[in-house]
Amino acid sequence: MKNNISVLGLGKSGISAANLAVKLGNNVFASDVVKTKKLETLNKKVSVELGCHSDKILNSNIIIKSPGLCPDISILKKAQSKKIQILSEVSFALLNSKYRKIIAVTGTNGKTTTTDLISKIIKSEHKNSIAVGNIGVPLSDKALKTTKDTYITMELSSYQLEDSPNFKANISVLLNITPDHLNHHKTMRAYIKSKENIFVNQNKNDFLVVNYDDKICANLAKKAKSKVIFFSKKPLKNGVFYNDGKIVIQIGKKYFQMEPRINIFGMHNVENILASVAATYVAGIHLKSIEKIISKYKGVPHRIEFVKAINGVSYYNDSKATNVDSTRVALESFDKNINLIMGGQDKGFPYTPLKQLIKKKVKAVFLIGKASNKIKKDLRGASTFFDSKSLEQALKQVYMNSKDGDIVLFSPACASFDSFTNFEERGNIFKSLVNKLGK
Ligand code: ADP
Repeated sequence: MKNNISVLGLGKSGISAANLAVKLGNNVFASDVVKTKKLETLNKKVSVELGCHSDKILNSNIIIKSPGLCPDISILKKAQSKKIQILSEVSFALLNSKYRKIIAVTGTNGKTTTTDLISKIIKSEHKNSIAVGNIGVPLSDKALKTTKDTYITMELSSYQLEDSPNFKANISVLLNITPDHLNHHKTMRAYIKSKENIFVNQNKNDFLVVNYDDKICANLAKKAKSKVIFFSKKPLKNGVFYNDGKIVIQIGKKYFQMEPRINIFGMHNVENILASVAATYVAGIHLKSIEKIISKYKGVPHRIEFVKAINGVSYYNDSKATNVDSTRVALESFDKNINLIMGGQDKGFPYTPLKQLIKKKVKAVFLIGKASNKIKKDLRGASTFFDSKSLEQALKQVYMNSKDGDIVLFSPACASFDSFTNFEERGNIFKSLVNKLGK
């Protein structure tokens, strides 16, 4: 049946949903409050309004809402009172996809790495394996290419889950929950509630892979109707765990061990690997394939990415560390002699959780961006601070102040939007500046 569909928000996923809606033969109207938008990739058959959300939106029978939009805006309230169906891009794309299994990954940190690794492990045995969602490729882009043999691994943010109350995956992965995005969700309770949608519609035939070491997640899992598979960095009676360099699967009467080579840094990545092992094991992938792909896996750019060694100093790009917890895990991944470059746009959280680690491991902190003063205040006494202003200046100072054996870690603990388009641009600029150092 031909629908009248309105798409609210013309970001990457909004454009993709509008294009899919056109390809499915619907009349599509798209609206964004921003006055100028790059819309080259939008299908010409979409009629567009920019600068407002007008009542024209209400002439539709389906609204596709972009994840960033606040659910309380007046146009959505009007739509609700007119009983117009409101869907997320994820739900709309799933309604128009075919698949063998859906594996869904959420958590405050580690989503992209885990989604990427799971989809690669699955691909080693099933060529129809795709990684979509928050990872950068909306499912709407791929929906019409999916078949009944496709394994869809989806990265889902709290925003996407909040808008997808009917979402259901065969295998769900809940990595961790720490404070983030509270400007949108307002309370920790609402943030946790959004994450719950990753498993709330599962039944006893489905699996929920959960981090046993994260109290909030382990507690939340008590509500699941699906089979819960815990993973942990410490031995468990039942679950997938890490023990002395080995990964152990001990589920019911089954017991297996593997010892893959791990090329990605830090214990947080061991968690991502454990979650990937658990999810792909219950998806039916052979252990040999799981072990082989993990041993080859080099990680995703901008996550503690080794850039270069100059005069015995190793430079790492961790631009994706956009919150305090990400910087904490990066600091925990190295022993000592760290020169830390941090700062950017503050997200409203204290930096104090980093104080002890910085005291123990960091030689000097080089501050960039708008959050500099707050960081200095929160971390007073923990290290020597340099006001670097720009990334370029920070690298010049760090270059002068580092010696053989040091680590230079760019792990901002802040958003990038004060000076960059996004964390990718910030990381790419860091890497190109490092490549010019000493020349
Ligand atoms: P996300 O997609 O959730 O942002 P990524 O895989 O892109 O996660 O990793 C982003 C950053 O989060 C990494 O650079 C690292 O600092 C941190 N991180 C990754 N995995 C974990 C984890 N399991 N626990 C805590 N922090 C993590």
